[in-house]
Amino acid sequence: MTEIREVTRRFVLQAGFSCPWRCRFCYYRESLKKGNVKDFTTDEVKEKLREGRRLGKDQVDISGGEPTIRKDLFEIIGYARKIGYKKVAIITNCFRTHDMNYVNKLIDSGLNDVLLSLHSPIEKEHDWLTQVPGSWKKVMKSLENFSKTKIEYRVNSTVSDVNADKIDLFFKLIKPYKPHAYNLLILNPTQETDAKNGEIKIADYNKIGNSIRKAITRHKKEFKTINVRWIPFCMLKGNEEHVRTRWQKLYEDQEWDPYLNIKYNKGTAAAIASGIAGFFLYFFYAPRHGRRGIYTMFNEAITTFRVMLYHRKLKACKKCSLRKICDALPASYVKNMNRTKLHPYNLGKAIEDPLHFCKSYKENFRSLRISKG
Ligand code: SF4
Repeated sequence: MTEIREVTRRFVLQAGFSCPWRCRFCYYRESLKKGNVKDFTTDEVKEKLREGRRLGKDQVDISGGEPTIRKDLFEIIGYARKIGYKKVAIITNCFRTHDMNYVNKLIDSGLNDVLLSLHSPIEKEHDWLTQVPGSWKKVMKSLENFSKTKIEYRVNSTVSDVNADKIDLFFKLIKPYKPHAYNLLILNPTQETDAKNGEIKIADYNKIGNSIRKAITRHKKEFKTINVRWIPFCMLKGNEEHVRTRWQKLYEDQEWDPYLNIKYNKGTAAAIASGIAGFFLYFFYAPRHGRRGIYTMFNEAITTFRVMLYHRKLKACKKCSLRKICDALPASYVKNMNRTKLHPYNLGKAIEDPLHFCKSYKENFRSLRISKG
């Protein structure tokens, strides 16, 4: 049987970068502080939606900044559905979704998916992280609101040294609302996050791994989907199907097309340059499994470049069977504070299939669902 790989059909559309909140780990924190952020006009956003369709995308996450500050959000959602998007989501900090009337208006305009952020199960800690008193209450009210609707909603939590010991509490708090997916994102201290200033730090990976592994083992039966992003496989031994490295994310229905992501953040030249640089590294470092079309290969080349730029493998990784499909550790973490003990796999040969552990998650990988012989 020959598997046909296809890059995800979802992309993220940053409608603009303005945001009323100031999360301490925000990628755009410095730019927000300086007021140096761009917001796109309605027509510019619509053109991005059309470009997504031209590239075969049929799912979109409308993001910011904070998209619910836009007056034209209902129009944008309606337009996306009109031109063929099957899934239209917003990524929100719950600035307005605590209001049920507002949620109903979003749904009436065509919204059918939401990704919201909860950064601590403890009210005071969440509000400290967002720097907005009352923000935790808004998230909890939004969870209650979305759980009364028929649309899908997902929850993101960013894990740092502030909340790494509270993973079990996160699961307990979220469980009654039955989200479609729960995503744990290990703080990725790139771009402008305050992790650089030492205010919050990436936690030790052994500590994060232990905490997440125990919580997943305890709660996985009660959650439809649990994804852990930016973590090496060996930190979640026994729960590898929940790990989403760059190589799994590339094919995941709920993740983003790498080319469009870079293009809309850094420009077309940066996206094409990453692809070209990645092609030179691709033949040495990328996992190669199954057949792929040109556009998917281009995105694999971009991914190769990003893995090499942002991640580092340690000595132990050299003999690990998962070295081709694992990102290992973030480069900035290895440089500044790495004391992590890795646990290489010995499976007899190097695994080249990025979706080796994802078979039980077939629902979330259209790439697997269209495989044919
Ligand atoms: S490649 Fe390295 S970080 Fe990844 S699972 Fe193997 S030993 Fe762990």
